[in-house]
Amino acid sequence: MTRPALLSLDEAMPQLLAQAKPLEAKQTISTFDADGRVLAQDVVAALQVPPQDNSSMDGYAVRTADCAQAGAVLRVTQRIPAGTYGTPLNAGETARIFTGAPIPLGADAVVMQEDCEVLEGEKIKVSKSVPPAQWIRRSGEDVKRGAKVLTQGMRLTPAELGLAASIGLAQLQVSARPRVALFSTGDELVMPGDVAPEAMPAGAIYNSNRFFLRAMLQRLGCEVTDLGIVPDKREATIAAMREAAQHHDLILTSGGVSVGEEDHIKPAVEALGELNLWQLAIKPGKPFAYGKVNRGFEGDACHFMGLPGNPVSSFVTFLLLVRPFVLALQGVTQTEVKRTEMTAHFDWPRADKRREFLRVKRNAQGGLDLFPNQSSGVLTSAVWGDGVVDNPAGQTISKGDTVRFISFAEWLA
Ligand code: AMP
Ligand code: MG
Repeated sequence: MTRPALLSLDEAMPQLLAQAKPLEAKQTISTFDADGRVLAQDVVAALQVPPQDNSSMDGYAVRTADCAQAGAVLRVTQRIPAGTYGTPLNAGETARIFTGAPIPLGADAVVMQEDCEVLEGEKIKVSKSVPPAQWIRRSGEDVKRGAKVLTQGMRLTPAELGLAASIGLAQLQVSARPRVALFSTGDELVMPGDVAPEAMPAGAIYNSNRFFLRAMLQRLGCEVTDLGIVPDKREATIAAMREAAQHHDLILTSGGVSVGEEDHIKPAVEALGELNLWQLAIKPGKPFAYGKVNRGFEGDACHFMGLPGNPVSSFVTFLLLVRPFVLALQGVTQTEVKRTEMTAHFDWPRADKRREFLRVKRNAQGGLDLFPNQSSGVLTSAVWGDGVVDNPAGQTISKGDTVRFISFAEWLA
């Protein structure tokens, strides 16, 4: 009997993103609090930045007609610190000016103070000839009035907050945070802190997935309800999902999504809604599942994503599949992470039928080293590594080959 071919990541991704309709709710929040949030409006500048032509140096504002030759002597008739506005400059006059202060009318250049000699009687001597426009920052050279400076669907970073503030915006309209219910399955799981390492019963392990999944969801702007560990029982799994669906946009689980008798996630989703995707041709992470859990009204459902229990599988499938999904729920249009071509400094002689995500680290020679143990249970590989090689199905790697690298720093940002 031949098993049906697993769905490839490239087939699954568009299907998944087609389900991730942006949430309708929006919020107006302080620009101070908007780091990492997704902009729900285009932002158009109501003024020019800088507002006027201004000096980019501490020095003297001059009329270049007065300074065609080196050695011109000018009368200092005014002083213009930043935050003040001078008066028009007449022929033969100069204004003491400071960085950021508006250029007075009549002046068309600035001489830096290092190029001026201060003379007796409020005069200066300019040691060089002065070209027009020297050391002037033009009005609007950063932002023009009416220009669209930030675009709906972009994820805000500190630079965007600064730019929004520079055009006077104390508040920004952002997409609501996706509400995510997170739970782990596995009767072997124990929470760190509940049982000391020396007192761990045989067969028990600590719940590690719960820590990184929650942290990653929060980094991506989600509001997380942590439902803890749900027992490996069909009824308990169904009850947890039914309840979670009511007040969340997404239910995210780890473990229990394979084919074993103790795996109740898949049947629970099928009992409460529908399973749309299950099992992908990726390694690690094959037992990934996507579906919907009904809320009780026709057509009203909560998204469901089930991640494998093995920690590295959970970690990688989160980044590959959950990350773009929760970003899309917030209206992000560009959800794909960048792949960079790099050189493998290792051999990977056994090709796999599935597309593989190998934990690697950049070395001092600018190449990639491979973590020796690529088992999906070895979370050390994700700590040692600073990214993965996205290796196509059926592909071996030899030292010197060009491979596609995804950096954790970018992927987790
Ligand atoms: P499962 O997907 O439930 O079959 O689990 C696969 C493997 O991952 C088993 O060895 C589990 O003990 C382990 N595992 C499942 N959930 C977690 C978790 N939250 N933290 C650490 N390991 C886990
Ligand atoms: Mg399990």
